[in-house]
Amino acid sequence: MDESQNALYVVATPIGNLGDITLRALETLRGADMIACEDTRHAQALFAHHGIDAQAMPLHEHNEAAASVRLVEALRAGRRVALISDAGTPGISDPGARACAAARAAGFRVVPLPGPNAAITALSAAGLPDAHFLFIGFLPPKPTARRHEIESLKGVPAALVFYEAPHRIEETVADLAALLEPERTLAVARELTKLFEQIAVMPLADGPAWLAADDNHRRGEFVLVVSSPPPRVGIDAETERVLKVLLDELPVKQAAKLAATITGSAKNALYERALQLKDG
Ligand code: SAM
Repeated sequence: MDESQNALYVVATPIGNLGDITLRALETLRGADMIACEDTRHAQALFAHHGIDAQAMPLHEHNEAAASVRLVEALRAGRRVALISDAGTPGISDPGARACAAARAAGFRVVPLPGPNAAITALSAAGLPDAHFLFIGFLPPKPTARRHEIESLKGVPAALVFYEAPHRIEETVADLAALLEPERTLAVARELTKLFEQIAVMPLADGPAWLAADDNHRRGEFVLVVSSPPPRVGIDAETERVLKVLLDELPVKQAAKLAATITGSAKNALYERALQLKDG
């Protein structure tokens, strides 16, 4: 057969609310012969809810190499194969990368079906003004390695997005508050799309107290978003004056660009500062 005709479909699935699945994802999963799943029992809830009746094949972090071989064999046999993870988008803090690489190396197309992702869902509602974000996912569980990584992120001019489990949420937030700039804002997004969904936005320094204030605040699944660091370089009093004058007349982007040309300061820093000034 012409192997380019068959494809591995990489399908995003809900992160809580089973209704969060695209029409195309349903059509693909319902039409699949085999679905590679992180946890086949977990997948049954999704399958039962949406009338999906395919063979489920386990593909998780401990068997991904061997499972990818089986998956390629199934593609070679002309079977319609999809890949999902327990929740959200495969390959994002989840298995899937090896399976995609194996399918592609064997000459098959890899077709992504976009859909839910916890990081993007949290960012969409956090309401932070940052122009950029950096997805970190899970920090290392060991304190020394975790603190080292947080230190290394300190100067990055972007909002930082973390995943965290309930049993480590307190230590992670304590480390973020202790090691990053206190002026930064923290958005705690927990149980997104579920019954007890909560998105709380606070100064980063207040994070540990917020978690301690209520047992429920430490329950469920978490995305943490920490806003960009305050601009550090190149904004002296005169530059700030120029930026403010321009901001009175122009949109943020134009004002920052013009102020950078006039003063020679970094455009990115001026843009971040202009957003802050605009937000009061
Ligand atoms: N592949 C998934 C995605 O696209 O978002 C992420 C899988 S990762 C193994 C699981 C982590 O994602 C959780 O520990 C939590 O940090 C985050 N997460 C997943 N679902 C969530 C939800 N409903 N609310 C908040 N965080 C969630």
